[in-house]
Amino acid sequence: LVARMRPFGTTIFAEMSALAVRTGAVNLGQGFPDSDGPPEMLAAAAEALRGGQNQYPPGPGIPALRRAVADHQRRFHGLEYDPDGEIVVTAGATEAIAASILALCEPGDEVICFEPYYDSYAASIALAGAVRRPVTLRPGDDGRYVFDPAALRAAFGPQTRLVLLNSPHNPTGKVFTPDELALVAELCQEHDAYAVTDEVYEHLVFPDAAAPHVPLATLPGMRERTLRISSAGKTFSCTGWKVGWASGPAPLVSAVLRVKQFLTFVNAAPLQPAVAVALALPDAYFTEFQEGMRRRRDQLVAGLTDAGFDALTPEGTYFVTADVTALGGRDGVEFCRSLPERCGVVAVPTQVFYDDPEAGRRLVRFAFCKRPDVLTEAVTRLRQLK
Ligand code: PMP
Ligand code: GLN
Repeated sequence: LVARMRPFGTTIFAEMSALAVRTGAVNLGQGFPDSDGPPEMLAAAAEALRGGQNQYPPGPGIPALRRAVADHQRRFHGLEYDPDGEIVVTAGATEAIAASILALCEPGDEVICFEPYYDSYAASIALAGAVRRPVTLRPGDDGRYVFDPAALRAAFGPQTRLVLLNSPHNPTGKVFTPDELALVAELCQEHDAYAVTDEVYEHLVFPDAAAPHVPLATLPGMRERTLRISSAGKTFSCTGWKVGWASGPAPLVSAVLRVKQFLTFVNAAPLQPAVAVALALPDAYFTEFQEGMRRRRDQLVAGLTDAGFDALTPEGTYFVTADVTALGGRDGVEFCRSLPERCGVVAVPTQVFYDDPEAGRRLVRFAFCKRPDVLTEAVTRLRQLK
């Protein structure tokens, strides 16, 4: 194995899901829903499979899906992208992120990201031979995760190539505020850096968030330097389909496509028309999806609090983080490794998503994209910890 990949072991999600299977624990670790997405989408996929859409589709994605992605971004964010040249379909957001970094970074270039960060970021940055410059998010006094603006400013320098921004943010549930986004935008422009935005949770921002989700690309001066990434996995509860996309100005999208064609070449043909159907669903689908997830969030936050956790109510995503100190936990990794034996529940330590393990030492993440009865069972088990 090459040196640049040696620091990366098995992903924490695979480790914790295997632990859940082995111990029969309730799995609130890896974030995947336990119910299927919209029936219209599933029917369209079945129809495409039976209808013979089973050979290589076009490299950038089928036209119907690229059009649907463009229409969706116009409908929800007022963003205009040309389906021919400004949108590329990828194998989930994961491939879009990897291809973007590989397309834009020379060895030694720096990538700024907020830690804790989604685990593929560090690996994609390493594959490109680039260097990550983390800026730390910590729980603030009001229970929201915040960063020090001076630390963000200090992270920028002559080697900065791009900022990788995930909002709504996994694992913290943070939704970046307009002021925070304005600072990111200002610094990108000051340092002539690109932005790659991971917006896979764009439809999971709850009404009590400090601010709605605003794509960085909508800020003045940002569209031309931003690759905006999203995916069907979260919004349509089909994480196993791996259909994602990147949108941006033609030169950036064509750079992504150049790399993507040698990573996967093209993506699952029969799933693409189905995701196009899902993206065109009426607004009610999106509001009900978000409202259902808000109810589950409230159920899990209340249950965790009752079980003695110091739970932080997330503004977005389907994850809640909690400090385990009050339950006698000193280390999230130890806590999560022993949790299945202690009470039959799996969670994920957020420490592994920080370069500075101290910053996340006592934090663990629970996923609430599960049926209410599953959450009830998890909470019943967690109460035994007290
Ligand atoms: N980014 C974030 C923040 C995520 O939580 C996920 C979840 N899996 C991904 C990217 C990957 O998305 P996909 O499954 O579409 O590759
Ligand atoms: N995005 C999901 C999570 O954060 C799953 C990621 C994965 O399994 N690679 O849990």
